[in-house]
Amino acid sequence: MIFEIEKLAEKFAGRTAFSCGNEKITYSGLFEKAEKIAKKLSGEKNPVIVFGGRNLSSFAAIIACIISKRAYVPVEQNLPEERRKKIISISKASLILDCGEPEIKFIKTENKCEPLFENETAYIIFTSGSTGNPKGVPVSYENLENFIGWITSLEPLSDFEKTGVLSHASFSFDLSTAAIFYSLFKGGKLVQLSGSGDFDEIFSAAEKEKPEVFVATPTFFRLCLLNRDFSAEKFPFVKCVYFCGETLQKSLVKAIFERFPDIRIINAYGPTEAASAVCAIEITREILEKEELLPVGILSSAAAEITAENGEIVLKGKSVSKGYLSGEAGGFYKENGKNCFRTGDMGFIENGKIYCKGRLDSQIKYKGYRIELSEIEAVISALPGTENCAVIAKRNPEGEVRLIKAFVSGNIPEEKIREELSKKLPEYMIPKSIKFLDSLPLNKNGKIDRKELLEL
Ligand code: AMP
Repeated sequence: MIFEIEKLAEKFAGRTAFSCGNEKITYSGLFEKAEKIAKKLSGEKNPVIVFGGRNLSSFAAIIACIISKRAYVPVEQNLPEERRKKIISISKASLILDCGEPEIKFIKTENKCEPLFENETAYIIFTSGSTGNPKGVPVSYENLENFIGWITSLEPLSDFEKTGVLSHASFSFDLSTAAIFYSLFKGGKLVQLSGSGDFDEIFSAAEKEKPEVFVATPTFFRLCLLNRDFSAEKFPFVKCVYFCGETLQKSLVKAIFERFPDIRIINAYGPTEAASAVCAIEITREILEKEELLPVGILSSAAAEITAENGEIVLKGKSVSKGYLSGEAGGFYKENGKNCFRTGDMGFIENGKIYCKGRLDSQIKYKGYRIELSEIEAVISALPGTENCAVIAKRNPEGEVRLIKAFVSGNIPEEKIREELSKKLPEYMIPKSIKFLDSLPLNKNGKIDRKELLEL
């Protein structure tokens, strides 16, 4: 097993492992802290909720869970209570580590403690689910080890050893696992942003810690570029950016090369269901010029077996989770004992490169967040007074979602809908606009005419 995380404490002892705001800690300090937490986690096998911000306590708690072989379930502080409760119940977590303060609080849940998972699950990340409940994806140690082996040898990322790795991702999104485990296993310093979205925080952290690598969504990097000073002249240490999570637009790559002429850009692709990412490709100037649609990976160096079946990207093998906690199959299936996952991403493979060109369903990425529009519809439709409801995503000419809009027919006040949505869904899933219609337009098949709604 390559996964001997404890050995990192000795291997990189005096190096800085983590920095966030005023908090900073070395590898030996971090593992000492994590070991103390781990001692209190032994004896039970149920998952552990790591509740809190993107701070040192949460980071140490995550490592403690891995040391004590208990699955960690990251939960953001600002999630509505109802959703939090659902996550506790679905995950069967028996303990909450409240990491909101530097001193971690240990809170027992009502779930019965039992050896449920045979210790095979490293973490559980919850994503938007189409039925109205969040979907729990258990990622096993085998999945995670496979991912770590892949990302630490991924070129050109593997050239950057013991370096600063800036990450804005919340621990509850799978992009964070790329930053956490790449950084840890390469002896790096994770420069974690608190997620306040504060422009000053981003650039003062970068100036102070001088990270060579950024792990980011394209949305985040576009935001950074709004600062005219964000360029190679003022930030000469920035050498590489690892993108994952949403479509990387050519216009963004062009803009980055203009500001950072020598930067190395990686476009990585993968869903939470297959441990963060399964393939990647360096986007060079040549690729930018030649390709109409930027590829998302090279087949020969992928972490999973990847095929395009009937225009859909399918993943197989060690990266792929065994399936949702709820038991609902979704895109999961087995083939000769192997875990397989139909991603729902439309794509194709050409000359050994993988391309992704949109979704087969109503899943979208908005500001880097994964959202099932049907989950929002499920919440609104369940309200008394709602007759019909459809939620659509308005996109800009480049295909990026700019606005989530709900259309509702029935007799229900907007405030009631908003109240319910904010009880059940995270802020980013709540439609900016709710429009009332006498009835929703139907197409000739009798289904809601979403194309027409896009025009309204
Ligand atoms: P998540 O589970 O949040 O990582 O979201 C996974 C989904 O994000 C994938 O199924 C794709 O739809 C999308 N995605 C991830 N990486 C890329 C990429 N490089 N290009 C296009 N879409 C991507």
